[in-house]
Amino acid sequence: MRIDVITLFPRMLDGFLTESILGKGIESGRLAVNVHDLRQWTTDKHRTADDRPFGGGAGMVLKPEPVFAAIEQLQTPGCRRIYLTPDGTPLSPALAGELSRQQHLVLLSGHYEGIDQRIRDTVIDQEVSIGDYVLTNGTLAAAVLIDALARFIPGVLGEEKSLTTESFTSKLLDFPQYTRPAEFRGMSVPEILLSGNHAEIEKWRHARQVEKTRQVRPDLLK
Ligand code: SAM
Repeated sequence: MRIDVITLFPRMLDGFLTESILGKGIESGRLAVNVHDLRQWTTDKHRTADDRPFGGGAGMVLKPEPVFAAIEQLQTPGCRRIYLTPDGTPLSPALAGELSRQQHLVLLSGHYEGIDQRIRDTVIDQEVSIGDYVLTNGTLAAAVLIDALARFIPGVLGEEKSLTTESFTSKLLDFPQYTRPAEFRGMSVPEILLSGNHAEIEKWRHARQVEKTRQVRPDLLK
């Protein structure tokens, strides 16, 4: 799978793309991520990528010319062009899984007040939000989307089973995890986990999932 990210802040993704599971996924060739500085498609000597909004208002808006040029250069037939934005479709495991099956994604990160609407109307196929809060720019949102979908690419996670036991997979949050030592500063691991009785462990874990979900995200149980 190939992903192209268009951003004003390419260096924000430096460590993200080389570390941990994602770094290994890229190294193994299962995923290729290219990060592009939007300013390379500006044409004036100040490399201007934004301008004041028509109709007034605070902040600046990304100009159409460099964004159109960037997308038109990077897009390939059948690719999905996505704008990261708080008023987009909320990111979910289902959406991440669906996007992981695409051959090529072009991710556009906005800044300031957002981007010229004509970009959204013409060269964007889908708009995605990573949550009901507002970031200063979309670069971290693009990173979150890449991380969430990369887990669904076969071979990236190593242990595919963890995909089926994570929070949200069954509309339940995850159960508590423990590792060695069994006793630490007077705190013991629940006896059941040391019992070797897998059926009882499953039952205990499920009960903890329901308990946690009821406490923290009762909306998921409806
Ligand atoms: N004026 C916009 C609004 O109210 O919807 C917010 C613009 S925000 C300050 C700047 C950029 O950050 C956006 O263009 C978008 O790319 C990114 N961004 C901020 N919050 C986001 C979120 N929750 N999900 C995805 N992208 C986000």
